[in-house]
Amino acid sequence: MPVLKAVYDERLTEFLEKLGLLSQILGGSIRCHQCGKVITIKNFGSVKRLNGDLVVFCNTPECIANSLKEPEIITDSPKKTD
Ligand SMILES: [Zn+2]
Repeated sequence: MPVLKAVYDERLTEFLEKLGLLSQILGGSIRCHQCGKVITIKNFGSVKRLNGDLVVFCNTPECIANSLKEPEIITDSPKKTD
């Protein structure tokens, strides 16, 4: 379904642009926080805020899994969820 794919890409680029990451990803200067692979629109997996910085993960299952369990997430909320 090429149409759905196109819509998805458009939403993703819009999302990345809002985060200020789009130009860096298009320029090839963002690497996966987990495996170090260069992030592109095609292999973008997830993004999260880590110590005030945005870090990006590629879409391999291993990196997605690590992005979800990364323990050093800093959120806006100061309370600990333990
Ligand atoms: Zn990765």
